[in-house]
Amino acid sequence: MRRLIRPLVRHLRPYVPGEQPKIKGLIKLNTNENPYPPSPRVLAALREAVGDSLRLYPDPNWTSLRQKLAPHYGFDPDEVIVANGSDETLALATRAFAGEGEKLGYFWPSYSLYPVLSDIQGTQRVEFPLDEHFQIVAHTPLLHQLRDVKLLFVTNPNAPSGVWIQRVELQRVIEAMKGVVLIDEAYVDFCQENCLDFVREYPNVIVARTMSKSYSLAGMRIGFAFGSKELVAGLMKVKDSYNVNRLSQVAAIAAIEDQAHFRENVRKVIATRERVRGALEKLGFFVYPSQANYLFARPAKANAADLYQFLRDGKILVRYFSAPRINEFVRISIGTDEEMNTLLHRTEEWMRL
Ligand code: PMP
Repeated sequence: MRRLIRPLVRHLRPYVPGEQPKIKGLIKLNTNENPYPPSPRVLAALREAVGDSLRLYPDPNWTSLRQKLAPHYGFDPDEVIVANGSDETLALATRAFAGEGEKLGYFWPSYSLYPVLSDIQGTQRVEFPLDEHFQIVAHTPLLHQLRDVKLLFVTNPNAPSGVWIQRVELQRVIEAMKGVVLIDEAYVDFCQENCLDFVREYPNVIVARTMSKSYSLAGMRIGFAFGSKELVAGLMKVKDSYNVNRLSQVAAIAAIEDQAHFRENVRKVIATRERVRGALEKLGFFVYPSQANYLFARPAKANAADLYQFLRDGKILVRYFSAPRINEFVRISIGTDEEMNTLLHRTEEWMRL
């Protein structure tokens, strides 16, 4: 039966998401979820929405949600697209802007979904290396190479390092690009800066956001993005008619309405991040200055894979990537203070081994 699968799909190496294990009592710090619950207003709105209306299709154009998002971020409703998680926004952009055989680019190391999306689409993938500080170096050869790239992904803050990529360098990249630049701001709410103004300045820039991290709604799958009316119209053409379900639209509206809850959650995560970063540095770890809800840390004594396994044996799950350049690090999502204390305690034990 394998031969019935298109060769491109048969040979595809799919994206591998972080584990979602069912083990009881596990401290889960591996997929950058928010440790705090969503707003009680979201839960109340969801309870109210569960009923007869579920027999009806959701609004294909997310009218109410768009009307909420647009003024909140300073855009018109037709400059906003909503998706089934930010991952869908990225897939739609690939479908709409990069044709088979054309170039799809991304900076590297970064989110490992980008190469997979490129392979699915049959585009030619081009990796542009970030320097050792996870920064773009916008020198002339790079700018030249960008010219025929149809779609370029930039994660800012970067994943997995959490480092904020300097706007000046990014701006030089945007100005060199004739194709679309999609700035993936999945983690930007944990950062002081953002690039929304580039959407207004450059008609080929799209900024993608998600409610999975800062709004504690990973389970609802809500992504949204801002871009020029023309690019948004292009994305709309290639989406599933009902790409965001009824309950997710209701949840997203309630989440945006409770900014106080959102700000407080983000504040707590940032405070914990800074404290844990300091503690890991005291243990001799090298930790990138993260502007996200995770820390990318290199143990003082070698072998991050060993630390990963040691933590796992003690029911603490962090993320380890075996790819070159990032295989000396573990990525630790920021949990509650109590969870992070357990992590630090266990890490100290590992150091003493
Ligand atoms: N972009 C980056 C950089 C991410 O790390 C993630 C989460 N894996 C996403 C996008 C996707 O987020 P969502 O849950 O909204 O699909």
